[in-house]
Amino acid sequence: MEKKDLDWGSLGFSYMKTDYSYVCNYHDGAWEEGGLTTDHTVVLSECAGILHYCQECFEGLKAYTTESGDIVCFRPDLNAKRMADSEKRLVMPQFPEDKFVEAVKQVVKANAAWVPPFGSGATLYIRPLMFATGEVIGVKPADAYQFRILVTPVGPYFKAGAGKPITICVAKYDRAAPHGTGNIKAGLNYAMSLYPYELAHKNGFSENLYLDSETRTYVEETGGANVLFVDKDGTLVVPKSFTDSILPSITRRSLVHVAEHMLGMRVDERPVKFQEVLDGEFVECGLCGTAAVISPVGHIVDGDKEVTFEKGCEKMGPVMEKLRTTLTGIQSGAVEGPEGWVCKIC
Ligand SMILES: *Cc1c(COP(=O)(O)O)cnc(C)c1O
Repeated sequence: MEKKDLDWGSLGFSYMKTDYSYVCNYHDGAWEEGGLTTDHTVVLSECAGILHYCQECFEGLKAYTTESGDIVCFRPDLNAKRMADSEKRLVMPQFPEDKFVEAVKQVVKANAAWVPPFGSGATLYIRPLMFATGEVIGVKPADAYQFRILVTPVGPYFKAGAGKPITICVAKYDRAAPHGTGNIKAGLNYAMSLYPYELAHKNGFSENLYLDSETRTYVEETGGANVLFVDKDGTLVVPKSFTDSILPSITRRSLVHVAEHMLGMRVDERPVKFQEVLDGEFVECGLCGTAAVISPVGHIVDGDKEVTFEKGCEKMGPVMEKLRTTLTGIQSGAVEGPEGWVCKIC
């Protein structure tokens, strides 16, 4: 198979049309067979539910080439499960989890020429999404939906100067209501995070750190990534929400497993008071998600207060580095990981 003639090393994180998308429609109480399409547009009624009451959810994962030349993706079954949870919360029909994994494989295989070669650092980003196409005017769930997967090649998250720790700020706004939709991957969670995101950027920060919106006491996560800390004893401390408003990151769950079962580390998943962060209890901090695996955080600013993570402010700290190297090693096939984590496509 001939690869597309792209400068893989200089790709950014932006959308580029590939050869195929996957599409499957739901109507009259059932999913159609579904399949590949070369049409990368969507035509909707002006009264489609997505346009009025925002019934939409999505996923994000990536396909890449291993050293041995296989095209693989990472734990797509967990994306399928999380998407099903999002659908349920938004009163959307369940897209069968096995059909989800098959659809991911089918669309990646059809676009194999767009999967960046091993060593380029680039990956094929996979974006499954579902939205209400049925017409609604009164507030209620729609009766027709479209499930779609688009894929697009994206560049390495860290370019030259790799992984320089970022500075983030504590947001004055909330990301998710207590017991709201913070634990599902819905577009609506992002719509209202754009204003604080732009504000953070204008003030020179890379991201917002959100505290729990009920008490503004505990650390939750950033706009699009979970937070990890390392304390003075080398324990991995993972913020837990008592109002269930943190998105269950697959990267975070994988890193916790790697830390506990492969690196013999202590892991403490518990509510973390922001005051502990201010008091200097933690020596490293990182943000985790599919795109970067771990992005190191060097400083957190909260108004006139600033915290510096002493072991991770010049470059990524040693514990985060070890976690990142191990997980990316598993993903690339260089390190043997738990059964079933790496899913071979072709
Ligand atoms: C997608 C997402 C993450 C990261 O999840 P991964 O499964 O690790 O990519 C974290 N927080 C939010 C709010 C997200 O939407």
